[in-house]
Parts: sequence; C-alpha cells; structure tokens
Amino acid sequence: MPTALSLSLLGLLSIPEARAEWIFREQAIMGTRCAVEFWSERPAEADSLANAAFDEMRRIDRLMSTYKPDSELSQLNARAANKPQVLSLELFGLIRDSLAYSRLSDGAFDVTYASVGYLYDFPSQRRPNTAAIRRALPGIDYRHLRLDEKRHSIFFERKGMRVDLGGIAKGYAVDRAMAVLKRGGITRAMVNAGGDTLIAGDRFGKPWVVGIRDPNERDKVALRLPLTDTAISTSGDYERYFDEGGTRYHHIIDPRTGDSARLLRSATVLAPTAMQTDGLSTAVFVMGAERGLAMINRLDGVDAVVVTPQGKVLYSRGLTPPGAGP
Ligand code: ADP
Ligand code: MG
Repeated sequence: MPTALSLSLLGLLSIPEARAEWIFREQAIMGTRCAVEFWSERPAEADSLANAAFDEMRRIDRLMSTYKPDSELSQLNARAANKPQVLSLELFGLIRDSLAYSRLSDGAFDVTYASVGYLYDFPSQRRPNTAAIRRALPGIDYRHLRLDEKRHSIFFERKGMRVDLGGIAKGYAVDRAMAVLKRGGITRAMVNAGGDTLIAGDRFGKPWVVGIRDPNERDKVALRLPLTDTAISTSGDYERYFDEGGTRYHHIIDPRTGDSARLLRSATVLAPTAMQTDGLSTAVFVMGAERGLAMINRLDGVDAVVVTPQGKVLYSRGLTPPGAGP
C-alpha cells in the first residue's frame, strides 16, 4: 500500500521536469552518415539544437558539393579557366587553407586532384585508362591556382583544372557543426561525419572511445582510442572503391600519378580541429608510412596511426608505446 508520503512524492515526480541526458541523433548528409552526441541540460531543446548542427553541415555541402551543378564550387570549376571567379569569403578561405596542406605534404594533398579524379566513377566501377590520365594529369597542380586575396577570386592557370574539397570539407563541416552546439551551451559533445570526428570535453571523468576499423572487415575494430578534446579522422581504401583484376581502385588519388594511392590501407590523424585531421589523414594516406609519419612528427600537437598493406600498425612519435620503438 502506498503511504500518503510516497503518494505525494509520486505527485512531485510526475511534474514534467526535464532531466539532463545524453542525446544522440544521426542524419545522412554529404553522402555519408553524420552523427551528433552531446550532454544536454535542456533535453526539450535538444532536437532543435541537433537540427541546427545538421543544417550547418547541409549548408556547407550545398556550397561545395561537386555533385550539385549549381553549387558555388561547381560554378568555379565551370568558369575559372576562362576568367577569375570572385568567391564567397568562406569558399575562398577554404581553398586558400587547403593550399597550406599541399605545401606541408609536398603536393600529396592537392584539391586539384579532381582534374583527374572526376574521371573515376566508383559506384559504376569506371576508371580512366592510361591515355586519359596522361591527358588530364597536367591539370593537377595546386601551384596553378591563382588566388587574388583582395578580390577573393581564383583563376585556373591551366585548362582542364578542377577543384574538389572532398578531402577537407567534411572535417570543416564537423568543426562548424560543433561550433553550433557550443553556441547552444554544450560542453561535452561528439560530432561525426563518416571518417571525421571532433570531440569536446569528456564523459564525466571518462574519455570518449573512438574505434579505428580493421581495413579488411567492416564490422571489426582494429584499435580503440580513448579521447578527450581532440579531432580524429581516418582515410581508408575501403570507403569508396572497386576491385578489378586484383587491383583496388579507390577515392584517394596520388596527384603524381592520377592513380589511387596504394602505400597504405588506412591513415588516422589526431589534431585539434577536424579540418586539420581530415586534410592530414588524406595527405598521410597518399604519402605512405615513412614520409607521412615524418611529416606528422614535425607538427606540434598532431599524431597519426597507419595500417600498412601488410597489416602492420605504425604510430607517430607521440603515440608510440614506451619501449616499442618506431
Ligand atoms: P573520406 O571522404 O572517405 O572521409 P578522405 O578524408 O580521405 O576520406 O577524403 C577522400 C576524399 O578526398 C576523396 O573522396 C576526394 O574527394 C578527395 N581526394 C582524393 N585524393 C585527394 C588528394 N590527393 N588530395 C586532396 N583531396 C583528395
Ligand atoms: Mg581527408
């Protein structure tokens, strides 16, 4: 029998009272699964906050998708070989920032990879033959993008040049979506878009745990990393690909050859922002273990884990377990 006291307590509990809780939402944006997870003190507002974060990702996708012919980036590609195109500060800034990754990686990361890259169609398993690659290859070279800082315009110095921001756009979108959550008062959160993740804060004294998948098995995790306050991105040869005659053709292109990069199975980078980790993971993937890890070891606050074609897992200096050697 409930006592009078317990009845009155029940009465109190039934007053609608929003309790703080973990919120998880996901949506398909930018051709991939995007997710936000955060600690909300006001769960009634959680959906509108999550939607604002997803809206920001959708806005960035509209700006720089090469699948949408009316996007600002598609317009740039259609016209910039004829005359300089004035861009929004946001798109101009992103292309300018991408050049820093090109210089840092000695051209392994190059948004003009798309001059050849657009000839690949992974869902329909189409790829350019050697002659087609040879014809289009001169279009790959970030040094032939002429930027005018004053007018924020860009001119393609060679015909046939194309820019695609697929190597950093998702990381940028993740950073921006996190900024939306933070403006909404969130301090513990994870934002993810495919292989790119940004983590803010911890889980009340515990780290977030991010898994790096086994390159050979979709549902197997090769490594689990406990993380707080960091971004992490993985580039792999198993995201968009097809196999033909024992060779894998996939979406990360070596700018020097116009062919898929084959020195690694996956490259994971940790750094403060998801734009950094996105750009650098693509760069390390192209550069391979030796050059890629050497580049990472030169950067402060940046680390990497790579999986070689032989299945070996190699770490940058900051992550090398004590006594394990390089
Ligand atoms: P994902 O898109 O699977 O997260 P990445 O971050 O590694 O993987 O980015 C791969 C994308 O980067 C490709 O789909 C393509 O749009 C773009 N890309 C491919 N090769 C290069 C390159 N050499 N430099 C810059 N971007 C590249
Ligand atoms: Mg990337």
